[in-house]
Amino acid sequence: MEFSAPLKSNSTKIMLLGSGELGKEVAIEAQRLGLEVIAIDRYQNAPAHHVAHRAHVVDMQNKEAVLEIVRREKPDFILPEIEAISIDALFEAEKEGFHVIPNAEAVNKTMNRKNIRVFAAEELGLKTSPYVFVKSYEELVAAGEKVGYPCVIKPVMSSSGHGQSIARKPEDMQNSWEIAKEARGDASELIVEGFVDFDYEITMLTARNEKETVFCEPIGHEQRDGDYVFSWQPMQMSEVAKQKAQEIAKTITDGLGGRGIFGVELFIKGDEVYFSEVSPRPHDTGMVTLITQSQSEFALHLRAVLGLPLGFAFYGDGASAAYKAENESYAPVVDVNESIFDEKSFVRVFSKPESHKGRRMAVVLVFDTVQKALSKARELVTKIQDC
Ligand code: AMP
Repeated sequence: MEFSAPLKSNSTKIMLLGSGELGKEVAIEAQRLGLEVIAIDRYQNAPAHHVAHRAHVVDMQNKEAVLEIVRREKPDFILPEIEAISIDALFEAEKEGFHVIPNAEAVNKTMNRKNIRVFAAEELGLKTSPYVFVKSYEELVAAGEKVGYPCVIKPVMSSSGHGQSIARKPEDMQNSWEIAKEARGDASELIVEGFVDFDYEITMLTARNEKETVFCEPIGHEQRDGDYVFSWQPMQMSEVAKQKAQEIAKTITDGLGGRGIFGVELFIKGDEVYFSEVSPRPHDTGMVTLITQSQSEFALHLRAVLGLPLGFAFYGDGASAAYKAENESYAPVVDVNESIFDEKSFVRVFSKPESHKGRRMAVVLVFDTVQKALSKARELVTKIQDC
């Protein structure tokens, strides 16, 4: 593998579509290998903008705007970092010869809960919760009867828990309908899923390229309002469940194809493993790998993109805690207690230019046995404030 210098006629260029905290870490890894980094987001001074050679503000939902910047910059690899991107632009870019990671069809399938669910359950035969797709309130009520209560209602196009709710009885459906309507994305269609009474849920980070597929140790996580708050690695699993989890991860990532890392989300009950969803990019719960692995999920993503070997070592247990802003500010300050800067813990601050209540601003990382790391992460994150 030859590594050229950035900003030369022969440089290797990556374009990040979405420049949040995950993109920022990918950009830093790219800088370490001498790649030229072009970071795109819909607002100025997004996290990855600060560590890129060029930063552009583009409406990523606008097909022509995305294609214009792609044609202008001519990246070797286009790395979608978020879901809200014009899929038509990605298909067109691919047709014009650009390399979309992992590929435009995989992005298309995974950005829509209906597409990925039908693909996983009906084409690949993976075990999932029972589900029904609905477009009207009447269909929603009928779906509740079919999948049973409690059930989980989600817009087919949404992320981070937006528009999502649990209905425990038929009378809850009216409220679920209202919540879904307010969600961002195309809320016209909903998926109604039977509630899986899982023992725990994991992310199986899976990196692949044409030569190999590797799995990270399973990551356990805790969600609040559809958003991750704590994650730890490894999640203790039975050998049978771990094996099944890897098999499902291999099947779905082979099915989607292409190069890159995937966050495969799974529910585990006893030795049973249910496929939930998959993101074809680094996963927020995987930030814990910044402290547990010789190659973080971001480094592995880049290696997979470049077609490099995917070998890495698991250094040891760890945990992460997301810090979310309490305040609205146009000049946010993340106030970190110095005790966090310890031999076994540190913080990564995302450098977001504005804060609003609930916005993820930083992550605490702790290296220790899982139990100790998790309880320390829980404690340390309370020692951060913002203003
Ligand atoms: P999602 O946006 O689909 O990743 O859902 C966010 C979180 O809601 C998951 O990580 C689970 O904790 C929970 N959840 C989603 N779907 C189900 C389900 N069918 N059964 C139980 N919990 C669920």
